[in-house]
Amino acid sequence: MTTKGKEPNRTKDLEKKLKLQGKLAWDRLDEKERKEVFRFAEGYKKFLDRAKTEREAVQEILNAVKGSGYRDLSRGGGGNKFYSINREKSIALALLGKAPLAEGLRIIVSHVDSPRVDLKQNPLYEESDLALFRTHYYGGIKKYQWVAIPLSLHGLVVKGDGSLLPIQVGESPDDPVLVINDLLPHLSGKTQDQKKLAEGIEGEKLTALAGSLPYSDGEAKERIKLRLMELLHEKYRLVEEDFTSAELELVPALKAKDVGLDRSLIGAYGQDDRASAYTSLQAVLSLKNPPRPVLALFADKEEIGSEGNTGAQSLFIEEVVRGMIERSAESPSETLVKRVLARSKAISADVESALDPNYPEVHDKQNAGRIGYGVCLEKFTGHRGKAGASDARAEYVGEIRRIFNAHNVAWQMTEIGKVDEGGGGTVAKYLAVYGMDIIDCGVPVLSMHSPFEVTSKVDIYEGYKAYLAFLSSP
Ligand code: MN
Ligand code: MN
Repeated sequence: MTTKGKEPNRTKDLEKKLKLQGKLAWDRLDEKERKEVFRFAEGYKKFLDRAKTEREAVQEILNAVKGSGYRDLSRGGGGNKFYSINREKSIALALLGKAPLAEGLRIIVSHVDSPRVDLKQNPLYEESDLALFRTHYYGGIKKYQWVAIPLSLHGLVVKGDGSLLPIQVGESPDDPVLVINDLLPHLSGKTQDQKKLAEGIEGEKLTALAGSLPYSDGEAKERIKLRLMELLHEKYRLVEEDFTSAELELVPALKAKDVGLDRSLIGAYGQDDRASAYTSLQAVLSLKNPPRPVLALFADKEEIGSEGNTGAQSLFIEEVVRGMIERSAESPSETLVKRVLARSKAISADVESALDPNYPEVHDKQNAGRIGYGVCLEKFTGHRGKAGASDARAEYVGEIRRIFNAHNVAWQMTEIGKVDEGGGGTVAKYLAVYGMDIIDCGVPVLSMHSPFEVTSKVDIYEGYKAYLAFLSSP
């Protein structure tokens, strides 16, 4: 017997008990925790400003852990916290835990490279009395987003005598910047405006304006280029051949900013995937005495398929595990390295696409990442029929779910977009081959791969909580 007055309560109880509850992460926090969310975001913004390239990110991570007692894994000596750097572009942090290595590690892999515009190896030319750099973009960019915005130049030049010259121009307030020009609307109507968006700017037209001053001798050829070379020689002792052995990257000359009048969001370049790199770094730094040994890998080259000797497909991870075994005074053998990896549990920490109110049609709303709902778990990535997916098994998803719930982490189960819409992939499948369990987990991002990606401060904080909960679990 029920009365009319009691019926709504029963419905509410039943809904609460049975239905999947989507709840804004903000609503789960008290006043003190909300303050912590905003405080955490300040450190994250500083990291984004200092670490705009993979090399700078490695340096920032190294600086952060050196002050916390981490030692070089390749050197002798005791301790239980180590770092290992792979060619200045990738870094691993390793912690020995209470459990023996042979029982497997807790692993988090993020990446520190981001889409950008690289200078070509023979970049400098003069045209119409302007000096310009030819470029070759890196990763999946929408080329039209990279024109008519201030760009800074970051990277390294290896000179003829082998000396190294780090370059960073465009980040200080009084630094000059570079820019890729676009056609004015007055003259683009019949040509550029008629093209498909993806073809509106051609790769070869992504040339960056570098100067316009002429060399003093009016008889000289290519006077603008010559004057620029003269300046580069005066300032850096550079000659044109030095560009051939350089890695110079153009990235947005923009600082990380609060977005929204309520300051709840963060806009910045490179949040894919420094959102995961920073939060997993902070999680590692928060660990005291983890039950299982921990490995945090910050990989390079994810944006071009995790290739090369600094990408997640390289065997660097095996080298790090070998080092951990040596440090734990067990005898390192190939069998043990493989066994440790096979028994490990991992998170591929990478950002997820967020539902954009302007483009809901590319998502299945019920399974889309939502800004403000916490960290995203992706059981699988891939294209169409899950092609190229790692696909975590249900048992492992269940374990991660239990860990997150036990630690009060705000999380959402998501997939990148509609089934036939497109897709994407991460490093998960390259680590899954070792036999470890691995699942994708990262914060939702708006305008992913653009010069100014947007995340929510609360999602960033929940990402940190999620990674810390994972690494702290037995
Ligand atoms: Mn990514
Ligand atoms: Mn990406």
